[in-house]
Amino acid sequence: MISEATLEVKETVYESFQNPNAQGYYGKFGGAYIPEMLHRNVEELKAKYLEIMYEDSFQEEFQQLLTDYVGRPTPLFYAERLSEEFNTNIYLKREDLCHTGAHKINNTIGQILLARRLGKTRIIAETGAGQHGVATATVCALKGMECIVYMGEKDIERQAPNVARMRMLGATVIPATSGSKTLKDATNEAIRDWINNPNDTHYIIGSVVGPHPYPDMVARFQSVISKEIRAQLLEKTGSELPTHVIACVGGGSNAAGAFYHFLDELSVQLVAVEAAGHGVNSGMSAATSQLGKPGVLHGSKSLVMQTEDGQVVEPHSISAGLDYPGIGPMHANLYKSGRGTFLSVTDDDALAAAFHVSKTEGIIPALETAHAFSALHQMQLTPKDTVVICLSGRGDKDLATYMKVM
Ligand SMILES: *Cc1c(COP(=O)(O)O)cnc(C)c1O
Repeated sequence: MISEATLEVKETVYESFQNPNAQGYYGKFGGAYIPEMLHRNVEELKAKYLEIMYEDSFQEEFQQLLTDYVGRPTPLFYAERLSEEFNTNIYLKREDLCHTGAHKINNTIGQILLARRLGKTRIIAETGAGQHGVATATVCALKGMECIVYMGEKDIERQAPNVARMRMLGATVIPATSGSKTLKDATNEAIRDWINNPNDTHYIIGSVVGPHPYPDMVARFQSVISKEIRAQLLEKTGSELPTHVIACVGGGSNAAGAFYHFLDELSVQLVAVEAAGHGVNSGMSAATSQLGKPGVLHGSKSLVMQTEDGQVVEPHSISAGLDYPGIGPMHANLYKSGRGTFLSVTDDDALAAAFHVSKTEGIIPALETAHAFSALHQMQLTPKDTVVICLSGRGDKDLATYMKVM
């Protein structure tokens, strides 16, 4: 099975929605737009990532950690009361039950194993709300690797509990003090660090964004989500294919993982849900696919929220994980090609959905995930449909926001 996957990558004619071409393009989006000084690092990764990922010994160690450390496979839960309410069949893929509370750890486990096989001893990452920083600090502790997390000074103040978690896990959190002192500035600092430390350092990017091969690599690590969904649906319904898969999209990694093994199954409707913030046209939104124009952000060409003269627009969402002005290139291609259905949900509607799902199913979802639930109201579903929602994370981290509403 493992060698088959390698073959598929090498021989594909790149007409699928799953695989980018050799330059890392999904249709018109992707590629690697990087400073000259990063070429060596990115080229090394590009040359080796597939070979390393599909080595038997890598797959063995990766699968073992996913099972024993992350807690996979995560359950696929039939949500009876929600199904009744929407007069359809709704299954929840429980990524909230992963160690550290969300899907992000699937990717950081994969990348730390890759970094070790590349002979790296030092890990850097950037983080906005701190979720990816915590997932990275966790795997660095697990493997005894040095961990440096860049974080905007403003975000360090706003996200104190996650900063404490990272420090407790042994990571060094370095404030980014330039510009708006948020994620964008932390990303610049991380890139600067990588340029200065090309030999011993691996940069763990937290979503399906960044220069090729990151989007493809992260999508492959997260694809375990849809691989499990297929097997679990077969067991529960007699068919591997749902009619709809719904996931929220910040950069797009939980969606890429939940869609991955359905991307070329054209009967499956893929529904990506973005944050509309105060409303798509309010100027306070993160609905990137609808508002974005082609542009380069964080090393790849994609849809980017920008002004007429190409300045990146500051996004807004009540959920930190969706508060991003871009979208991964795979998703930009799904949007432009029409393969994906893109919806958006406001802050208020997401909050209402979080409270409703908590009372209806006994599961307190992350604010990001609540956007995916709220999208059910915008869809026409029937009793014949099988709908899978990627429950990307748990709501503990959002309790302060929920408490303000109560
Ligand atoms: C980070 C995060 C997201 C958004 O990131 P993607 O890369 O788009 O998946 C969504 N849900 C949760 C729970 C998160 O922590």
